[in-house]
Amino acid sequence: MPLRLAIVGRPNVGKSTLFNRLAGKKLAIVDDRPGVTRDRRFGAGRIGDIELELIDTAGFEDVTDESLEARMRAQTELAIDEADVALFVVDSRDGITPMDRVFGEILRRRDKPVLLLANKAEGKRGDDGINDAFSLGLGEPIPISAEHGEGMADLYQAIAPYA
Ligand code: GDP
Ligand code: MG
Repeated sequence: MPLRLAIVGRPNVGKSTLFNRLAGKKLAIVDDRPGVTRDRRFGAGRIGDIELELIDTAGFEDVTDESLEARMRAQTELAIDEADVALFVVDSRDGITPMDRVFGEILRRRDKPVLLLANKAEGKRGDDGINDAFSLGLGEPIPISAEHGEGMADLYQAIAPYA
């Protein structure tokens, strides 16, 4: 049975980039045009020798602001419930935003293991944001770069106990 991972977090932190990296080029679904992205996207993937079933969350380019938060919350909760482990992605360059804290609250309320990923940390950048991420109260952030493939060995080590 593949390990089911939900990739959650606010828009633009790099969730789909991480999805594509873990899914591998052959299985990647790269169509992120507005109105095309569905609320959740599923794909098979792997990290090291661990088989994964990935759930990407997002989209929302086509919804109005009033419904945005409610809809993000709903799809995030669904994805978490479907998963064995939630990967909570934050942007180590932006630091922790109020919207990150909303997602942090959602994750804290659910009874699922959470791995906190501080993305965009390539080349040791984003150290302040990584420290900031500790304040979410979801454990030690794992610095990664989804775009450049950095931190994947640490991510593997963190995921392995659940496989
Ligand atoms: P999502 O909205 O959370 O799915 O974020 P995307 O995967 O669409 O990425 C949002 C933006 O961040 C894009 O411009 C990506 O190229 C960029 N991005 C994603 N991962 C990284 C990373 O590791 N480093 C840097 N510098 N940029 C990244
Ligand atoms: Mg996305």
